[in-house]
Amino acid sequence: MKKMKFSLQHLIVCVALLSFILTLISSLWSGYSTDKQTLITNTLETNRVYAQKLAKTTNSFLKSTLQTLQFSSKEIAPFMQNDEGKLLHEANRLKMQTNTFNSVIIANAEGRILATSPQSLQIKNKMLTSPGGQQALKERKPIISKPYTAITGRLVIFISYPIFDEKGTYLGLVGGTLYLKEMNVLNELLGEHFYKDGSYVYVVDGDGRIIYHQDSKRVNDVVVKNQVVQKLMQGKSGAERVINTKHKDMLAGYAYVPIADWGIVSQRPVDIALVPATDMINEMIKKSFPFLLVSLLIIWWISRKIAQPLHQLAHYTENSTENSQEEHMEEVVAWYYEAIQLKKSLLHSLTFLHDKINYFMYQSTTDPLTKLTNRRTMDEQMKKWTENSIPFSLILLDIDRFKSINDTYGHSVGDEVLKFLARKMKENARQHDICCRFGGEEFLILLPNTEKNEAFHVAERLRMSMEAGASPCGEMVTISAGVSSYPDCTSETAKLIELADECLYKAKKSGRNCTIVFESSAR
Ligand code: GH3
Ligand code: MG
Ligand code: MG
Repeated sequence: MKKMKFSLQHLIVCVALLSFILTLISSLWSGYSTDKQTLITNTLETNRVYAQKLAKTTNSFLKSTLQTLQFSSKEIAPFMQNDEGKLLHEANRLKMQTNTFNSVIIANAEGRILATSPQSLQIKNKMLTSPGGQQALKERKPIISKPYTAITGRLVIFISYPIFDEKGTYLGLVGGTLYLKEMNVLNELLGEHFYKDGSYVYVVDGDGRIIYHQDSKRVNDVVVKNQVVQKLMQGKSGAERVINTKHKDMLAGYAYVPIADWGIVSQRPVDIALVPATDMINEMIKKSFPFLLVSLLIIWWISRKIAQPLHQLAHYTENSTENSQEEHMEEVVAWYYEAIQLKKSLLHSLTFLHDKINYFMYQSTTDPLTKLTNRRTMDEQMKKWTENSIPFSLILLDIDRFKSINDTYGHSVGDEVLKFLARKMKENARQHDICCRFGGEEFLILLPNTEKNEAFHVAERLRMSMEAGASPCGEMVTISAGVSSYPDCTSETAKLIELADECLYKAKKSGRNCTIVFESSAR
């Protein structure tokens, strides 16, 4: 499997994107935390103030209720023994006009009920046995009772005021009940809480028993375990975050109602209070999305600009032995320090590399003395032509009596003669002909797409140019040549040389300084 390659541009985009996302997350997080803290503090404060306000209202309501009962007790004191009609009238008035009580009763000092409103209660002339009634009869004081279950089976609290005559003799009591699990004045007082979304208010008595709750099933529950209720039972007011008895995380404000030893709690679930913070996060994400897209485009563009020169340089180094890579590399727009330096040094080393390669190529294909093509390259060339069925001719030539030149003028002069012949060969050969040193003082010319007669002319031209003047040794040097051709003489290259050599031998034999062409019929 091909190893996965990351490109610089992708890496830059990834890094930029990562930093964008991290910045977004950190700003969202810090925004959310700050917002959350503010929301919690504000909600606690709102609930504290609200509980305080409700406590104050409830306190004044209870106070004025007791005052109403006090007024009634004074009014009805003269009729307690003799005018039940008046008592009934007053009971009805208290029930109807004040609209505070679910029921009203007037009882004498022994506890016998003299009047009720509504009359449908049918407890007239019965004894007042309820705990609230008993407490009031016993204490002969204004009371707000604890909740208890009345004879009717209802959970109630009893608020009453004692009746005394002018001499201060205790005559009985006037009082009213609030049905805690039904609609009562507390509902009106506390029920219209300003939040409808999971926020609510409840009221506990001094024993930690719920006497008002929006969910009437919870009335009469004892919730002393709740730490806010514990504070209320100590007569304290304030606000705090609390886990309620239903294990819900709440932000509660609480206030003590001194007149009745009640406590009022106004609370809101934390998760609901924090909804605006979550909304803010969503809003921020939504709003930052277009920025993300635009940034991404800009980052893409910039990263492309940065990565492109390096990418191109890297790409061109993949095939660095090709000469054209240098030209491509020259075209790379390197516009910043690293790219400029890299381009410079790559070009430098490429030039160096190519010079070296060219040098070694030259060395391996050229004869060092005459600078003609060497024999190995010559063999390769012939192989290529025969493989591709390209016809060609071959001239094999040898200097006449070269040994004596060496002997007479020395080896180095002999070398000069060899170089002289090489120059002559090049002058007389055509552009596509290949001049080779075959070995020693034997040379060879390959003539592509050339018939042997044409080759003969080339050989003759060379031979005549040699005999036309003096060589570096000061005297004329002649050559003898043999010519063969592919494919009409033979299709094997080794045999082709052999045939040319035979002709050369014949040329030598026939007096030297001449050219002999291989003739098939001559064999
Ligand atoms: P022929 O006309 O029959 O060819 O006579 P020749 O003297 O040229 O005889 P032959 O071809 O056998 O002689 C080759 C001589 O060429 C022998 C050797 O000393 C000389 N020779 C071969 N290579 C070199 C070389 O690189 N430099 C020099 N100076 N002489 C060389
Ligand atoms: Mg020879
Ligand atoms: Mg010779």
